Amino acid sequence: MFDLIIRNANLPDGRAGFDIGLAGGRIVTIEKRIDATAGETFDATGRLVSPPFCDPHFHMDATLSLGLPRMNVSGTLLEGISLWGELRPLLTKEALVERALRYCDLAVTQGLLFIRSHVDTSDPRLITAEALIEVRERVKPYIELQLVAFPQDGYYRAAEGAKSLERALDMGLDIVGGIPHFERTMEDGRRSLEALCRIAAERGLPVDIHCDETDDPMSRHIETLASETVRHGLQGRVAGSHLTSMHSMDNYYVSKLIPLMAEAEINVIPNPLINIMLQGRHDTYPKRRGMTRVRELMAAGLNVSFGQDCMMDPWYAMGSADMLEVGHMAIHVAQMAGIDDKKRIYEALTVNSAKTMGLEGYGLSVGCKADLVVLQAADVLEALRLKPTRLLVVKGGKIISRSGPRIGELFLEGRPASIDPGRDYVPHS
Ligand SMILES: [Zn+2]
Repeated sequence: MFDLIIRNANLPDGRAGFDIGLAGGRIVTIEKRIDATAGETFDATGRLVSPPFCDPHFHMDATLSLGLPRMNVSGTLLEGISLWGELRPLLTKEALVERALRYCDLAVTQGLLFIRSHVDTSDPRLITAEALIEVRERVKPYIELQLVAFPQDGYYRAAEGAKSLERALDMGLDIVGGIPHFERTMEDGRRSLEALCRIAAERGLPVDIHCDETDDPMSRHIETLASETVRHGLQGRVAGSHLTSMHSMDNYYVSKLIPLMAEAEINVIPNPLINIMLQGRHDTYPKRRGMTRVRELMAAGLNVSFGQDCMMDPWYAMGSADMLEVGHMAIHVAQMAGIDDKKRIYEALTVNSAKTMGLEGYGLSVGCKADLVVLQAADVLEALRLKPTRLLVVKGGKIISRSGPRIGELFLEGRPASIDPGRDYVPHS
């Protein structure tokens, strides 16, 4: 007896037509035909069944604040930062909680069930931390939310930056954040990384740094982050988010840097939507893309996962809690258009992110947690192309969201009566 059986599923590894049996919160069998009854059955009709999506880099304290207190007219990073500065004193815990919960509702419908959010700790009132801790608790039945103590205005640069970060960790935030390129000097940035890695080692916490989010080829905090990681024995528990300066660095220097990052087992988190939108702004033409070296980092064995970063906030008016939109952009910006490239991008949105976030029991195989998503697409390549509707979202063996397929009706003489974009245009294989 199963709690739920998903029939006729296509799996992310390309196998087609399997039944997946869920019981006791686990995937207990995956076979061609399960001859058993279940509390509930869902026929996937040859659609892709995937483990849930993970977003390892987001800002849930800012999301859905678009238009408060006014719009970002220029659309630049700098106006975004000053806008956030205007909004921050006006924030209330209730409004933060409400917006975050509304975002999580949308995330669930998109099959996004694991989120790491940075939480701005610059305002010593720390209502951002208070609010997000409450949200972490309230969404626990359906979303695993990890919280990074993030000194947005600088660990040293903000008057109480260092103190507030430690207080936020005392309150129960999970991860140590930082922003070395925003400190007053390169030297302050370097010192901030020394301090932050020491704090993480002492408290036994992971690290996730907004690192070198500039076009400056000489911004080299990632080198310090890698070396501090090794010095404190934090290998595999440290993430370098953005790393956009690597786009502009000298090739010879990068040939030394990437092995150093591999030695430190740095988790690399590019944010393709935001990087392509905000970097290269000082260039005329040619204009740089500002995306870190995804293909080369993957080839060197580094764990690369992608973040959404923002949705409808002072920095980015767009976004839709859809990690496939992020992967779609990654394919274009990193120019990873080959079949194996795209499969790697899909892994970056799922298994690689799960590794970055240190998730236990994640995946679509027997013994893993009974969390999965059914998409209106035949396979992972089609999912990346279509960003399709999530027909079913399952957490712990229970259905937590359901959406009807997108079907277009046609009223054209001699043409079909309807179109299913996820089924009627599957390429020949
Ligand atoms: Zn960010």
